[in-house]
Amino acid sequence: MQITAKSEIINVGTELLLGDILNTNHQYLSKRLAELGIAVYYQSSVGDNPARLEALLKQALERSNLIIITGGLGPTVDDLTKQTAAQALGFKLVRNAECEQRIRSRFEAMGWEMSANNLLQADIPEGALILPNEHGTAPGCVMQKEGKSLILLPGPPKELKPMFEAAVVPFLLKSFETGIIHSVGLKIFGVGESKVDDLLAGFFRLQNPTVAPYAKDGEVLVRISARAASQNEAEALINPILMQIREILGDNIYGEDVAGLEEALVLALKAKGKSLAAAESCTGGLLAKRITDISGASEVFPLGVVSYSAEQKVKLLGVSRKIIDAYGVYSHQTARVMAERVRDLAGTDLGIGITGIAGPCGGTEELPAGTVFIAVASKTGTVSKLINRTGYEREQVRNYAVNYAIKLALTTLKEV
Ligand code: AMP
Ligand code: MG
Repeated sequence: MQITAKSEIINVGTELLLGDILNTNHQYLSKRLAELGIAVYYQSSVGDNPARLEALLKQALERSNLIIITGGLGPTVDDLTKQTAAQALGFKLVRNAECEQRIRSRFEAMGWEMSANNLLQADIPEGALILPNEHGTAPGCVMQKEGKSLILLPGPPKELKPMFEAAVVPFLLKSFETGIIHSVGLKIFGVGESKVDDLLAGFFRLQNPTVAPYAKDGEVLVRISARAASQNEAEALINPILMQIREILGDNIYGEDVAGLEEALVLALKAKGKSLAAAESCTGGLLAKRITDISGASEVFPLGVVSYSAEQKVKLLGVSRKIIDAYGVYSHQTARVMAERVRDLAGTDLGIGITGIAGPCGGTEELPAGTVFIAVASKTGTVSKLINRTGYEREQVRNYAVNYAIKLALTTLKEV
């Protein structure tokens, strides 16, 4: 009979607590269990300390019916996971002849000398399901008692992963209700996290699908995730919510399941068969860099110019000296002409112009550091915007300016 898993992961190893190694087993198992539709409710790390591991196991056995433990299965004295776990569930360790043979042959094949404690790895909790280790000596195992399953896996990822795929996945599919977790990620730029929180407050209490916002680098990701038996069922749960959220956030959503603004822009340009060129000043080529980070950008982005000085804006781009003298190098007018001229030069559908003061120095009272003018030129005309990121660091100003420019280009692209 299949039961619903309430699972948790315990990673054993003092090196994890000291920060000596990254706990990649934790991420790997969490991700794979999620993909299998198995809920993980707790994750913990504990040192190579039998008393603390025992206490943690007691707690885990009270609240979970599937416990996966990694690490501490080696042959050395600090590897005490198996003994501690067997004791906690009341299993006796017995020498397993087949495991012993496997270990002996492995040492022979490798030409290594075997010490007595290596054979401790052939001691298996009596009645446990053995998980063979194809890439090392310590086998894993599954102990089952009173509706609880406790799975022990070796610490080294190159042993753990193949064992998980070959032996644990089949066990989980057979023993627990599995399914899939499907999610859609909406990428949002133009409204801050707190505003998104306000607008979507009603959705955050949903259980299936769940709706959760994550803020990063001035952007917000809203993830809608559903757990179901199949992809179709998950989509059916997600779609009505997705439609409501699309309605609420409108144009602030710049992409779905895309990595970032630049990917959304390159995909949108390709989809419409349009092209783009850019003339940058204070962003120093960051826009060009981010666009060309996307593979295949050459199809849609033939030219990026960094015209950092006023003189080069005149000489290279043909921005008229009069405009710079009349309005200043940091102005709507200069940004607009940069966008228009680079579009003409490259013969593209869109042109972007960016000029401003990244800071921290160079600002004035009228135009403080963090002021950036961004323009996008197209056949429908030229739009320009002023952004003000006073108080932000140079890198943040530049990143935000590039994000803003890409978003403005995406909006313009809808009209051309
Ligand atoms: P153990 O099985 O505890 O003796 O672990 C052996 C080795 O596996 C450690 O020295 C680490 O290099 C690696 N290891 C153990 N636990 C983890 C973990 N949670 N994530 C990544 N590597 C690990
Ligand atoms: Mg260890």
